[in-house]
Amino acid sequence: MKIYNSATHKKEEFVPADPQLVKMYTCGPTVYHFAHIGNLRSYIMEDVLEKYLRYLGYNVRRVMNITDVGHLSGDNDEGEDKMLKGAQREHKTVMEIAKQYTDAFFADCAALNIKKPDVVDPATNCIPDYVRVINRLVDTNYAYRAGGNVYFDTSKLKNYYVFNDFKEDDLAVGVREGVEKDENKRNKNDFALWFTKSKFDSQALKWDSPWGVGYPGWHIECSCIAMKHLGENVDIHCGGIDNAFPHHTNEIAQSEAYLGHKWCNYWMHVAHLNTADGKMSKSKGEFLILSLLRDKGYDPMEYRFFCLQSHYRKNLVFTWENLDNAKGAYNKLVAKIAALSPDGEVDDEAVKSVREKFIAQMDNDINTPNGVTVLYDILKLRASDATKLAAIDDIDRVLSLDLTKKAAEMRKKNASAPKTGEFSVICESGEPDESVEALLRERQSAKKAKDFARADAIRSEVAGMGYTITDIPGGVKYGR
Ligand SMILES: [Zn+2]
Repeated sequence: MKIYNSATHKKEEFVPADPQLVKMYTCGPTVYHFAHIGNLRSYIMEDVLEKYLRYLGYNVRRVMNITDVGHLSGDNDEGEDKMLKGAQREHKTVMEIAKQYTDAFFADCAALNIKKPDVVDPATNCIPDYVRVINRLVDTNYAYRAGGNVYFDTSKLKNYYVFNDFKEDDLAVGVREGVEKDENKRNKNDFALWFTKSKFDSQALKWDSPWGVGYPGWHIECSCIAMKHLGENVDIHCGGIDNAFPHHTNEIAQSEAYLGHKWCNYWMHVAHLNTADGKMSKSKGEFLILSLLRDKGYDPMEYRFFCLQSHYRKNLVFTWENLDNAKGAYNKLVAKIAALSPDGEVDDEAVKSVREKFIAQMDNDINTPNGVTVLYDILKLRASDATKLAAIDDIDRVLSLDLTKKAAEMRKKNASAPKTGEFSVICESGEPDESVEALLRERQSAKKAKDFARADAIRSEVAGMGYTITDIPGGVKYGR
């Protein structure tokens, strides 16, 4: 499998350090609010990556953090504390907010068929790990104390800007409105590892440390949680592209300074989901979350399909019209699958050749749009319906679009609905009577043949048996 590695800016053959086990780390949500659908796009694509690795036969150990402390919107002792802001907004404690939005996040994931990672660890669960790592960084002069806080010294590194498609000039601190410069820092990109003196006097969660009572910075949590559960090496680290700088850049800086060797081999970044007027955010325009989509009548699988139709490294534009197109295409696809008969023999060789075709597409940097196209190729195969269904099920282990499940539901629904052109005879009251129903069907045939004399005669006969008859569109009702 080839994957684009943001750290080397190249598509590279993916080779895990241990051929039997892929160690995968995903930056989790900051649980101060609902995840917007742009965040969820990243988690969908990372889910596809994990499932594809498993499909290829790898064992995968995937770890995710939950940021429930320490995430400032600025990178230093500036900006605002996202957790605190959420708690104040809803008049709850930080831990109540964390619980509420962690649950909401995993409910969204479940609805979107995003598998829960093997390990999920909240940041507040790993304080001793941060203290241990920061201690060594201070001892080895990679970190310094200033103004009561502990900062990482980025000038100690030969190559800090690992993802160097970001220009240093664009990263100037203080350019954003309302963000103050942190005077404690020696270099503008130095970042806080531990806060004791903070402008957030109301910070609810604080712990003792060698540097005083305080709380960790955001970046240190991912390095420590990854090391805690995956050891000293990570094969693939994933996240949204907006995490590349400064978050991932800082993760690499502190992890490699601490370990003294390379930490993570492959970096996968999912591009933005934009709205028609630019970057999606929680503060402007419509708050695009999964429950809004559901309220408007979209199935989460239709949103997943919308995401998979585009490559993860391309920005995707979300408009309701684009989502409608995906909805239409998804339901057409399900209808075609529903028309297949589940009975019959499966041709294993044909399924295997579909599998190879799918792998050829997905091996090319997780090309999901081409992977989805294989579904349409399956429908055109000269093979039994059962073979087609088996092939769809096989690749849907990765795509997770619930295709045969939705098709079975559609089949069931179609079977219980009266077929167009079919004449229904409904017993309205009393016991159904087969002889009456046979007469009413004969009456219908007579009417169709324009033998109205016979039709009237049957009507009188049935009335004579004590029944009333009401003609309805597509059928007739009778009753005592
Ligand atoms: Zn992270």
